[in-house]
Amino acid sequence: MGIKVAKFGGSSVADALQIRKIKKIIQDDEAIRYVVVSAPGKRFAEDSKVTDLLYLCKTHMEHKLPYEQIFNVIRDRYIAVAHDLGIRLDLEKEFDEISREISEGASVDYIASRGEYLNAKLIAEYLGYDFIDAGDVIRFTEKGRFMEERTDELLREALAEHENAVIPGFYGRRTDSTIKTFSRGGSDITGALVARAADADVYENWTDVSGFLMADPRIVDNPKPIATISYKELRELSYMGASVLHEEAIYPAKAANIPINIRNTNRPEDPGTMITAEPDKKCGQVISGIAGRKDFTVIGISKSHLAGEKGFIRKLAGIMEDNDITIEHIPTGIDTMSVVLDNKMINGRLEEILEEMRQQLKPDSMDVFEDMALIATVGIGMAERKGTSATLFTALAEAGVNIRMIDQGSSEMNIIVGVENRDFNKAIKAIYGAFVEQEDAE
Ligand code: ASP
Repeated sequence: MGIKVAKFGGSSVADALQIRKIKKIIQDDEAIRYVVVSAPGKRFAEDSKVTDLLYLCKTHMEHKLPYEQIFNVIRDRYIAVAHDLGIRLDLEKEFDEISREISEGASVDYIASRGEYLNAKLIAEYLGYDFIDAGDVIRFTEKGRFMEERTDELLREALAEHENAVIPGFYGRRTDSTIKTFSRGGSDITGALVARAADADVYENWTDVSGFLMADPRIVDNPKPIATISYKELRELSYMGASVLHEEAIYPAKAANIPINIRNTNRPEDPGTMITAEPDKKCGQVISGIAGRKDFTVIGISKSHLAGEKGFIRKLAGIMEDNDITIEHIPTGIDTMSVVLDNKMINGRLEEILEEMRQQLKPDSMDVFEDMALIATVGIGMAERKGTSATLFTALAEAGVNIRMIDQGSSEMNIIVGVENRDFNKAIKAIYGAFVEQEDAE
């Protein structure tokens, strides 16, 4: 039988009710040998995540404000869960220890990590699994750089000694034994690292949605779920704003060729989305998903004989670099070139940048379109299918959407269109309609 590693996010382990659900999921699948958990997340919309409360304790301390009240809220939350689940764990002792460390000036990373640490201890006890402290198996250098190979060795040694175990996500230790966390949402990374070290067949990432949807449900009514998607396609979609998984979590799983299955703790019967190394060409769907972001500026540059001018792009890139701006896209024509920039990067300096461009690039003319949105239509199936762009552009034309920019990635895996912000929803609906609803009807 294969091995699965299951990581449960904050909302999946937020209270006793949720933890009962995860026990059922784990008991129903013998392949789940190792479990990685986040700290308790929100139980309802206005609730606070334990990690946020822990950071708040530290901020209070730094400002010499009392933090005990917040600390007690956290303590009561764990004690209530333990009580509800009938777990006998000396939580008071754990909290006394943490409280002592805090009063002695513990680092922010140590404090933040305790959310995962305590939750993993509690859940291990409830499941009857061993507890492996992430501090013993996830390693960083003294300067805080993640040590990938050393971590893999330590994890493999530890896993070999435990048939079943729970491991807290989010943190590890530096070589000088101090605690260091990954960036926020980092338990996803821990899960991927454990999956790799366990030579898992699947890395299950349990959250509160049944995987990815083909479009934003706030824009399209009942979009279809994505059953399978490749890492590359997902990268394109997440760049455009679709996010469920921590970006860095993809790399360890991808390197070890382990598929990631996004699952819903509240609907375990749903298959979720499977993220694989190779695209699933059999499924017949031309596109995998549509995602987009608003608030870009497109600067169109026209200059006669631009195509023959050496160093033009270098100068353009230099201007952006000097202004600390990354370029999103540079679609080019013969004597025209556009540069697409994120408004956040421009940060109110558009006039200055245009002036620099005028002086250094000496264009014949420049057109500026502010308030632009970019929409990516992504799918490995597009490269093989004739007429994909015709379908896309016809759909947008019929919806009365004016396209200001087009860019197709060299892999032919995506087509990006620039439209006005106000046409954003209309455009996404039209593309979804043409590719998904239309195909289903055929
Ligand atoms: N608890 C941490 C956070 O809220 C890490 C995680 O949940 O992945 O960011």
